[in-house]
Parts: sequence; structure tokens; C-alpha cells
Amino acid sequence: MNERAAPRLWRPKRVLVTPAALEWEHGRAILERAASFGSEIVELKSNRLTGLTGDDERQTYVNAKTTLAVVVAPPGKRRLQPIPPSADWRVDLAEGCPAHCQYCYLAGSLAGPPVTRAYANLPEILDVLPDYVGRGAVTSRSADRMHEGTTFEASCYTDPLGIEHLTGSLAATIAQFGAWDAPVQLRFTTKYDAVEPLLPVDHARKTRIRFSVNAKPAARFEGGTAPVAARLNAMRRAALAGYRVGLTIAPIMPLENWREAYGALLMDAAHALRDVTDPDLSVELITHRFTPGSKGVLNGWYPGSSLDMNEQTRARKTTKFNSVKYVYTPDVMKEMRAFFEEALGDVLPSARILYWT
Ligand code: SF4
Repeated sequence: MNERAAPRLWRPKRVLVTPAALEWEHGRAILERAASFGSEIVELKSNRLTGLTGDDERQTYVNAKTTLAVVVAPPGKRRLQPIPPSADWRVDLAEGCPAHCQYCYLAGSLAGPPVTRAYANLPEILDVLPDYVGRGAVTSRSADRMHEGTTFEASCYTDPLGIEHLTGSLAATIAQFGAWDAPVQLRFTTKYDAVEPLLPVDHARKTRIRFSVNAKPAARFEGGTAPVAARLNAMRRAALAGYRVGLTIAPIMPLENWREAYGALLMDAAHALRDVTDPDLSVELITHRFTPGSKGVLNGWYPGSSLDMNEQTRARKTTKFNSVKYVYTPDVMKEMRAFFEEALGDVLPSARILYWT
């Protein structure tokens, strides 16, 4: 695990920028970075995103996934929403992701073509955070998370590390949390490995970087991400730089030989942290699920995918917002949960399981 290739960085073909985003220094800095990666910069005439729709659904998808839009986050984004069980509050630095996961949890949550939007008004986004300190439900109700203070989750609608080389938003946010004299924690999860720009940041251990990982048989569903071994190596580098780290094991699926495959994954994670002092490792366990809406979107994006989304073999659940989702049946859930709890106890005994869902 010592030899490692340089991370593969996403290079958007085009960067669309709105007039409003151009007014922000952070927005202009994103353009400069993107230009240095060879992206074509297109200044839009209005603040509406245009030019993404192709001749068919496939072309629209390709256009969107090769485009970065630099825009201003609307005021609604600056009224934070609670986001249990991951964190107290959701803070959005961007929306969308350049990767191509066939089970992408963003499918069905975000409207329109899957373009990645980076927010230019980062100072405005960060300015509201102090209003939320001390108000969260997750850390104030959960005894084993109280020491984390109020937690802010930055990866609900994006993979912020996947675009960090273009935005610089994470490093700026981590630095702000590091300098913040209050019981707070920034959290984000990622399927990428380009942590280098974050390592020298004065984070004061107020950021937890979680790496979203899966067993080998699931790798075929994760196009455009960093290989799992590279993510674990990045976890090691982050932990050695003093960051608190975590594993988001997701989406857990009972694929072929799943016990052996997930067991091997946990062994690899333990090996990555073998000599790290106090990584404060947390683990989140998230099983695969889908909704009628996400299934429809994913079937359009990835026709022919072998990802199992058969309603007949799943349990149907109605959420508190009255929407329907399909999860594994109670017996499968019970079996997988028992496996993970036991295996984690054996292989990563100091890890703290935050939740199973
Ligand atoms: Fe979706 Fe995450 Fe994959 Fe990006 S990395 S495509 S957000 S599942």
C-alpha cells in the first residue's frame, strides 16, 4: 500500500459561469483553476443554466457529467436543514458529482441533468453556520457523539473532494472550522482520494473525513471514482495528518461471497490504519435502497446495468414523508448487520459504529 499512483483528477470539458458567480472572488478563483486544467470557460448571459440538453437522454447525461457550473447558491441553501443520522446540519458547498455510480444516491434527489454546480458565494454559505451551533438533534441526543459538538455535513448532495482541485472550497471550510473557537465538527464523505491539498490545512481535528468504500464485487458499479485501495490509502494519509477519519460502508449489498468480500475490505481498512495513533475511526453502515423515482432515473442513466433493483425481492417501506423506498428484507438486514457488528469488533475493535440503516 506504500506505492501509489497520483490521484486521477476530474477535468471538466466546459465550465459554465453565471454573471452572479463572476462577482465573487471565490467564483473567479474556481475559473482560474479550471482553466489551468484545460477546461473551456463559457460565460453565460443570465443566471439560468443553459446549454446542457442534448439530442437525447444519453447526450444530456454526457453533457452534464462533463460540465462544471459555477453559480451562486440560492438563499434557500443558506437555511440549513437537519440531516440525521449523519449529522446535525447539512451545509452545501456544491451540488452534483462527476462520477458515474450506477446506484448513485443523488438520482431522484436532484432535478434536471446531473451537472455539478460549485457555489461561488462560499463566504455567504459559511457566514450562517454560527447561527446553528448548539441546535442540532444528532449530537445533543446521542451520548456517544456529544463530544463532537454540533456537526455539519458537507457531502449530502455532492462529493466535495472529487471537485476540490477545482473549487478549493473544502480547504477553506476546513480552515474556518479549524480556527473556530466553538464545539463544532465538519464532516464529509468521499469516493475520491486526492486529499493532498487538505493535509497542510490547520484543521485542529475539527473535521472528520470519511471514505465511502465497498467490497470488491461492488466496484463495477462505481465508474469514475478512485479505486477503493486508493481511498483507503488516502484515509491513511489523512489520519497521519491528524484528521479524524471514518468509513462509510455503502451501499452494502449481499453480492456474491459478500461475507468474504466485506471481511477483506475491513482487513484492508485495518491495515491502512495499522500504525496511526488515534484516528478516532467512526463507521457508518448503509445498505442499498432505491425509490421508484431513483430507479427510473438510474435506468435512464445506466441502461443495461446489472445492479439489482427488483422490488419483488425487497421490503417496501413508507417514509415519514409518505414516500416509498425498497430496502432488503428484515432477515437479510439482520444477517448482514450481525456480520458487520461482529467483524468490526474483531478487525477494527476501536471503531465506533455510528448507525446501521
Ligand atoms: Fe453518486 Fe457518490 Fe457516486 Fe458521486 S460518488 S456518482 S455522488 S454515489
